Amino acid sequence: MSSQPVFSQPEEAGFLPIAQLSLLVAKLMALGYRCLGPTVENGAIVMRELDAPDGLPRGLQAEQAPGRYRLTQDPHNRYFAWANGPQAIKPLVFAPKESLWRVERDAAGALQFAAVLPTAPAQAIIGVRACDLAALALQDAHFLHAGRRDAHYAQRREQLFLVAVQCAEPGATCFCASTGDGPTPTAGYDLALAELPDGFIAVAGSAKGDEVLNALSLAAATPEQIEAARQQGQAAAASQTRSLPGRNLRDTLMGRLDHPRWDEMAARCLACGNCTAVCPTCFCHAESDEPALNGKSSEHMRMWDSCFSESHGYLHGFNVRSDIRSRYRQWLTHKLATWHEQYGRSGCVGCGRCIAWCPAEIDLTEEVAALTTAEVQP
Ligand code: SF4
Ligand code: SF4
Repeated sequence: MSSQPVFSQPEEAGFLPIAQLSLLVAKLMALGYRCLGPTVENGAIVMRELDAPDGLPRGLQAEQAPGRYRLTQDPHNRYFAWANGPQAIKPLVFAPKESLWRVERDAAGALQFAAVLPTAPAQAIIGVRACDLAALALQDAHFLHAGRRDAHYAQRREQLFLVAVQCAEPGATCFCASTGDGPTPTAGYDLALAELPDGFIAVAGSAKGDEVLNALSLAAATPEQIEAARQQGQAAAASQTRSLPGRNLRDTLMGRLDHPRWDEMAARCLACGNCTAVCPTCFCHAESDEPALNGKSSEHMRMWDSCFSESHGYLHGFNVRSDIRSRYRQWLTHKLATWHEQYGRSGCVGCGRCIAWCPAEIDLTEEVAALTTAEVQP
């Protein structure tokens, strides 16, 4: 995968006319990929299988604010004017609920254990954002860690072909520029696109991406088109109004564990767990056994869990996080502080989903600002 500055060299970038986007999808389908693209479902953009190469919707935008997500019409009728939907790539690699292994009683009455591995088709995801790629890299660090590689995650991850798209118009809740993760993709993609009024700059980031790009036989992008994409990325970054006050807040936040702001947050937070469900980097899960009614077999299930759930803090007879204050503090300080010790960076990629999908309109950037502003320190 590439880590070159994207959309910077005309000799490596092709130009795909707007009317020919379906050729890219058709090529991926011909190579055997199940193609997933933006689809409207229940008033939000989600990634679903495309029926046909020309099945990508045009002219959608997602208006986002704390506790608010509404689809609107893009006056420029672009394909990728929407900023992001409620889910990134996470559910496609880390399933919300799945069986890890099952046990059956054989004819002699002995228990037989068998691993359950998912069937993972080759999947191309079209419209992946820079923040989604950064989040996937963090999930890779967790699930593909040497010595504790997760077979279920790995099987799906290996089959992905990622078509990333530069965000030309971030949502009002986005702050990926301040985390260093967007709005232009820089690494982790197979193909990256930048949408201009008459077509797409296209660059490959992997051997698989090269193969697809070469098969399309595109004309080279002109220096003017490259410059337009570069400026579009810069303008998108400059348009973001939310930010975090630094990329490493470990010492600051861990020094404020008794700040009164945690109590104010706890009074508003419903502990619903929406923020952890939509967060593309959260990986907490719970495991349980589901025995068959006939008593002959049982499935060992894994499902997403949240540090906001009461059971998540339960340890052998007592709860280490019995109130919402401690659960919210756990979430924020793990994500932005102790994640640095585990993975060498913050666990937040600035996608803003936890802000848009919080029913209590809690804004992570506002809370961090309140916790870190010198005047309000306890
Ligand atoms: S911060 Fe918001 S989304 Fe997260 S648990 Fe609390 S109320 Fe739910
Ligand atoms: S903490 Fe919020 S803004 Fe950061 S990656 Fe998770 S959902 Fe996105």
